[in-house]
Amino acid sequence: MKDVIIIGAGPGGLSASIYAIRAGLDVQLLEKFSPGGQVMNTFEVENYPGFVDPVAGWELMSKMEEQAKRLGVQFEQGDVTAIQKNEEQNIFTVRLTDNRVLESRTVIIATGASLKKLGVEGEEDFTGRGVSYCATCDGAFFKEKITAVVGGGDVALEEAVFLTRFADKVYIIHRRDEFRGTKILQQRLLDNEKIIPVYDTIVDSINGEGKVESISLTNKKTKEKQDLPVDGVFIFVGYAANTDFVQEELLNPQGEVVVDMEMRTAVTGLFAVGDVRSDSKRQIVMAAADGASAAMNAYEYIVNSDMP
Ligand code: NAP
Repeated sequence: MKDVIIIGAGPGGLSASIYAIRAGLDVQLLEKFSPGGQVMNTFEVENYPGFVDPVAGWELMSKMEEQAKRLGVQFEQGDVTAIQKNEEQNIFTVRLTDNRVLESRTVIIATGASLKKLGVEGEEDFTGRGVSYCATCDGAFFKEKITAVVGGGDVALEEAVFLTRFADKVYIIHRRDEFRGTKILQQRLLDNEKIIPVYDTIVDSINGEGKVESISLTNKKTKEKQDLPVDGVFIFVGYAANTDFVQEELLNPQGEVVVDMEMRTAVTGLFAVGDVRSDSKRQIVMAAADGASAAMNAYEYIVNSDMP
């Protein structure tokens, strides 16, 4: 039996693993695919302290992974389907899709969040054929083409600017007349001649034959409709927490795991960190801090309770 099973190897999970192993706990880190989380799809990170110049998302995460491995953290592939606690024995059982059942004294959920779908006609049909959720991965396919980004948060602003490395023109379609994203990113976007903001506008459908050829838009204020010819559509309209395997009573109405300031859930010994938890600011540095906090609290819980 492990002291702590950490589910997810993004910044929250990796940081938790580093703190837990340094506290002398027996740690098992589970990851569904490969370590790194959403940051792997971020071209550059420029607000993680300690890096004077922007650092590539993959590089930052590889460093965290290497650091955890150097300290002896065991990484294992595993897709969790359920977590249960035996209150009498104070033991958690973690079930995986491959029917394995793991046991631990504490569990830290660090499964992050996934990009939301826009939910319009054509989105699903054209995913991978012009519709994308990752400019870092797919931007290069749109060299000298016309693209549209949907959304107005930090991710949409950053990715729109990134796309101008390849595309000739990038429309950014936002449903309000003011972006939600950080001011510095807004300024970078507005200063870029290749970017054309389209405000107060919603996407009705994504159209084409075999591949994306246009998007149909409606201006919310004037009710005017237009078909905009584009080769690609990048959708960044926020995230939903990855909590399929978590009991409903532990979630808030947004589907995030409810925690207190110490990252404790309503079940003693069960913690949640990073983008999967309630009131997350969705910042790499905060996920890392959450991970540290959860691991320290897991340690305290283990040493102070009467456990097998
Ligand atoms: P976000 O901040 O929640 O923004 C989502 C955007 O999508 C909003 O502008 C929203 O419009 C729009 N939207 C939502 N549903 C929509 C729909 N159905 N149709 C059209 N538009 C829709 O999400 P995010 O940009 O993915 O960022 C997530 C979090 O990560 C944020 O907290 C962000 O600060 C953080 N982040 C930070 C950095 C950084 O610091 N460099 C980088 C990346 C991400 P409204 O504005 O009208 O609601």
